Amino acid sequence: MSKENVVVIGNGMVGCKFLAAMLQKDSEQRFNLITFCEEPRPAYDRVHLSEYFSGKTAEDLTLQPIDWYTDNGITIHLEDKAVSIDREAKLVRSAKGVEVSYDVLVLATGSSPFVPPVPGIEKEGVFVYRTIEDLEGMMEHAKSASKAAVIGGGLLGLEAAKATQDLGLESHVVEFAPRLMPRQIDEAGGEILKDIIESRGLSVHLNKATTEILGDGKVFGMSFKDGSSLEVDMIVVSAGIRPRDELARDCGLEVGPRGGVVVDDKLQTNDPSIFAIGEVALYNNFIYGLVAPGYNMADIVATQITGGQAEFHGADMSTKLKLIGTDVASFGNIEPQEPHRNIVLTDPVKGTYKRLLTSQDGKQLIGGILIGDADAYGNLLQMTLNQIELPEDPIQLILPAGSGTAPAFGPAALPDSAQICSCENVSKGDICSAIENGATTLPALKSCTKAGTGCGGCVPLVTNLLNHTLKELGQEVNTDLCEHFSHTRQGLYEIVRATGIDNFDTLLATHGNGGRGCEICKPAVGSILASVHNDKVIAPRNRKLQDSNDRYLANIQKDGTYSVVPRVPGGEITPEKLIVIGEVANEYGLYTKITGGQRIDLFGAKVNDLPAIWKKLIDAGFESGHAYGKALRTVKSCVGSTWCRFGVQDSTSLAIEVENRYKGIRAPHKIKSAVSGCTRECAEAQSKDFGIIATEKGWNLYLGGNGGMKPRHADLFAADLDKETLIKYIDRYLMFYIKTADKLTRTSVWLDSLEGGIEHLREVIIEDSLGICAELDQQMQHLVDTYHCEWKDAIEDPEKLKRFRHFGNTDESDPTIKHILEREQIRPANEEELAKA
Ligand SMILES: Cc1cc2nc3c(=O)[nH]c(=O)nc-3n(C[C@H](O)[C@H](O)[C@H](O)COP(=O)(O)OP(=O)(O)OC[C@H]3O[C@@H](n4cnc5c(N)ncnc54)[C@H](O)[C@@H]3O)c2cc1C
Ligand code: SF4
Repeated sequence: MSKENVVVIGNGMVGCKFLAAMLQKDSEQRFNLITFCEEPRPAYDRVHLSEYFSGKTAEDLTLQPIDWYTDNGITIHLEDKAVSIDREAKLVRSAKGVEVSYDVLVLATGSSPFVPPVPGIEKEGVFVYRTIEDLEGMMEHAKSASKAAVIGGGLLGLEAAKATQDLGLESHVVEFAPRLMPRQIDEAGGEILKDIIESRGLSVHLNKATTEILGDGKVFGMSFKDGSSLEVDMIVVSAGIRPRDELARDCGLEVGPRGGVVVDDKLQTNDPSIFAIGEVALYNNFIYGLVAPGYNMADIVATQITGGQAEFHGADMSTKLKLIGTDVASFGNIEPQEPHRNIVLTDPVKGTYKRLLTSQDGKQLIGGILIGDADAYGNLLQMTLNQIELPEDPIQLILPAGSGTAPAFGPAALPDSAQICSCENVSKGDICSAIENGATTLPALKSCTKAGTGCGGCVPLVTNLLNHTLKELGQEVNTDLCEHFSHTRQGLYEIVRATGIDNFDTLLATHGNGGRGCEICKPAVGSILASVHNDKVIAPRNRKLQDSNDRYLANIQKDGTYSVVPRVPGGEITPEKLIVIGEVANEYGLYTKITGGQRIDLFGAKVNDLPAIWKKLIDAGFESGHAYGKALRTVKSCVGSTWCRFGVQDSTSLAIEVENRYKGIRAPHKIKSAVSGCTRECAEAQSKDFGIIATEKGWNLYLGGNGGMKPRHADLFAADLDKETLIKYIDRYLMFYIKTADKLTRTSVWLDSLEGGIEHLREVIIEDSLGICAELDQQMQHLVDTYHCEWKDAIEDPEKLKRFRHFGNTDESDPTIKHILEREQIRPANEEELAKA
């Protein structure tokens, strides 16, 4: 039997999902799958497009690699636009001249950004925000620009504005409506959001109708209907979307008056052999501009084509996003026509706004808006969708965590049919049965159910459900450090503090389960001892607790040599010290590189040379940079008000002071920091564990940021602080983190898992809600007062120096280390070069 052709026009997120659903459902392989992809690369994750600016590559964002298409027999016409549909002959033609006949045609052409016909909009420097090529264009243009405006203060507009700020530009948001995100939030919420966004250094202009883009070929400004104007040299248009329905129009399919291919409950167009899905489909006069409804449509059409029955009946448009570092969520119906009640909780100081809309009798939740703290989103959404009866006093549901009220609702209250992950359509029942069948960790659960792999908004609820179900099954949620200690890291920290125990053996003998310890508990206990007592990690009694980097106070490299990283507080260094670094590098043949943390790494040091290298550096006034330790790394800074014409405070002096205060303090993981002299943020403080940004009135403190593998934008903790208060808050933050975080947990992950999040942290640190601030202050002062340079200790102690040898019984270097010269410096030899040597 010959196969039927299913042709998909458009290989975006929904087109790709449709192909995957077809592969899954077409078990008898009755269909040929053919797709036209206009873009130069197969479908990628548009939802996380902005992560391209924080280092993700096009490859990282790709949904399925090109091999996936070929391996599964899918014909993909890459960079080839479908240009016409001949409905009579059932043929699709492409720009490259390909002609394919179809039995079933699926339109998944998505939408394009709406660009208002403002005079001058075609000028160089005006962009839209939809594809990787758009972002590449923005990055290139930003190199020669300084000020950007985004037209449109909706969800995507704010994301684009953050992107322009991340590109180092002064960023403005221009919105036609009287508030931000007019489609998702109400007036009061809009005001709070505006305040938060402005506190992040972006300017917001409301009630502004753009009348002209000014410039002579290139953009240099924009003028508004009210007679005002704004000087900018880059503009991003984010004024809504328009369905890509041009092919459908041309071949006579029915389209809506404002665009979109009209579909019925089966997602069929007025031609029964043509379906439309995703952002091009107009269902009940509505275009669904989110990925989850598109994925649902893809599944429904694949089910029908492969012989099943399924219909679309609309979709929930609830959303939860992190916008410019702040949570914004809206769920259910926020503009109900029927009589309803409002419960509103506003805290302009903390920047939170929460509104619940309930039925007149107060029993059912209709919808809600959460700004600044959306931790309750998952639960509230489920209560709305599943019509779960509200508790007597529904305000409990939105009170900040830690305010003493018991949570009125948990995963147990949900019916099995509750949809937990809307992107992948995974129900509570699916998740629970996966856990029962052995998926007892979050990664395992994600990989077998796909829950949490789309926009990620449901991950907290999935985790909650996992822990809850494990408990129900009688499987303890195991938080023990390891088999040797039936305590959490936090529990052990408290034991060490309370008992004063200062070595591993005593701790194991008195509070452990016997045995000798393992690779998990030894370094964790080593780190606790160092954090509590500021004990020397290199002391002989701690030797077995050290990981290999701590053992030699240096980071081991791929060829077995080590790196040497002297501390350069705040990145400020004298010419004399630079010369010493150069001399040391020359004498020991080291490769030198300036790092992102504003210091100089020296690579290729042999272990037996480390003491002599460090002696020279210490004699010149350097100290250990702790690049090898779970400790403070660097406090990066810009030149601030001392040199920079935009600077409002002396960021360099503060960075040096902060770095010197916290250097050497051991923590569950490494800690990075930065200080910027103004909101232009040249030091990238918001990507650090704690970041400080100067304001006209003092300093803003940001907490829990991270770059690296899992970037996280830091949360604004407190604004306009004087220096004394700033340092006090950082002291408490670091001590509370050291005290309560699990082993090897960065502040970003710790903060995300901290019940009550940043709000709770404010209560602990500012309001002393746990009554521990005096203790935190005193512990930090102890650590600051007992600082010692680990390398200075090492070179002054002949016993300790004995360990810096390649061979136990001689001082000879390892002859297997081979280096090659490249760009006038050494690098490790690769395998081929080693074989030849
Ligand atoms: C920056 C950004 C952030 C977003 N964030 C979120 C979010 O947080 N949550 C959320 O739910 N949604 C978000 N969205 C929206 C989400 O990305 C879309 O809903 C989703 O991508 C729609 O998928 P689609 O396949 O219908 O359209 P698209 O992804 O646009 O794919 C359509 C594809 O079809 C191609 N095409 C069009 N015409 C033709 C033709 N004639 N021949 C060949 N190919 C053609 C297009 O080039 C495109 O590649 C975001 C979107 C953007 C741009
Ligand atoms: S003060 Fe610092 S952050 Fe501000 S523009 Fe100057 S260098 Fe950049």
